[in-house]
Amino acid sequence: LSDKVMEVVDLPCETSDGHTIELLLNAGLSASFEQSSHIGAAGIGLYRTEVPFMNRHCFPSEQEQTLLYRKVLKFFPKHSVTMRTLDVGGDKSLPYFPITEDNPFLGWRGIRITLDHPEIFLVQIRAMLKANQGLNNLEIMLPMIASIEEVDESIRLINQAFYELKAELKANLFNELKQEFTRNLMDEMAIEGSSLDNQLLDGVLIDSVTKARLEEKADIVASQLHRPKVGIMLEVPSVIFQMKALAERVDFFSVGSNDLTQYLLAVDRNNSQVANLYDAFHPAVLAALYSIATQSAQYNIPISLCGELASQPAGAILLLAMGFNKLSMNGHNVPRIKWIIRHISYTQAEDILQHVLTLSTTKQVHSYLNEQLEAVG
Ligand code: PEP
Ligand code: MG
Repeated sequence: LSDKVMEVVDLPCETSDGHTIELLLNAGLSASFEQSSHIGAAGIGLYRTEVPFMNRHCFPSEQEQTLLYRKVLKFFPKHSVTMRTLDVGGDKSLPYFPITEDNPFLGWRGIRITLDHPEIFLVQIRAMLKANQGLNNLEIMLPMIASIEEVDESIRLINQAFYELKAELKANLFNELKQEFTRNLMDEMAIEGSSLDNQLLDGVLIDSVTKARLEEKADIVASQLHRPKVGIMLEVPSVIFQMKALAERVDFFSVGSNDLTQYLLAVDRNNSQVANLYDAFHPAVLAALYSIATQSAQYNIPISLCGELASQPAGAILLLAMGFNKLSMNGHNVPRIKWIIRHISYTQAEDILQHVLTLSTTKQVHSYLNEQLEAVG
């Protein structure tokens, strides 16, 4: 990266007329965000949990996942870290979970798999919740949401994991406190080797006042387990027409422009034969993004975007003008996008957007944006 661009790393991400937007990281391998820690990102906007699941021979255990997520959350203790639940299927497969189907991108993908396998989902959510204890910077994001039922079912499972974990935590704490209390009591009474020991250790002789006191103590600690914010990816076009119902259920939205483009234009994002048709600057994609941003503002839900579009200078300008609150991208793009945003005014960006929204072809959009970018430098 050029020195010119690196100069902005520690400066706020704001336009020349003071409009701010946050830039966050897309991450999956821990090495990728460790390398990016110095580029001035305001947290992780998309942690792709399927990545660490991929180079393995079996599903990671709850404990393995907890340790991994804790490491990621600890990396940005003062910023939010948005972890996406397992998004396999489509082009992302796990060697130990083979899926064979004719149209993988229209098939068993993302939330569809984890709702069919709640045991996988619950273990992952429990691990996230445990990892978040005492840090409280976790946000959970659901991929490939197409229907309200999927949101309701996911939230039901997240709540189930949360309340079960809380109860377990409380019970474990209570047992620890009880044992400690009993040991102290035995020390005081200097009882050794009698049958009373076992009774005491089993807590049989614990009086009701002490029990209530220990329970209260355990309750206080267990109440520190936080229920994180839950949001969804907007990447299947159906969600554009269900924004109100979605907004009533979740805390935030994040657009996956890679998939949204693929599904709006019916163009496989990985098929080189049709690669020339895959373009997030297609007027229909931009209109969809504009509608999403407008509706999110109307329903008062924070909106971010974590697809490749955010890391393209012209994309970032349009998204800024549409009112996106956060853009999430690969670390090496953060300084460049911050530089662009600092060198444009919000009014200028709004004018560019208003003109772009009148254009009818992708080609017109590109040539107009290229002209505008040259003017910015
Ligand atoms: C997207 O679809 O834009 C996205 C960010 O998710 P992924 O690329 O992992 O599908
Ligand atoms: Mg996606």
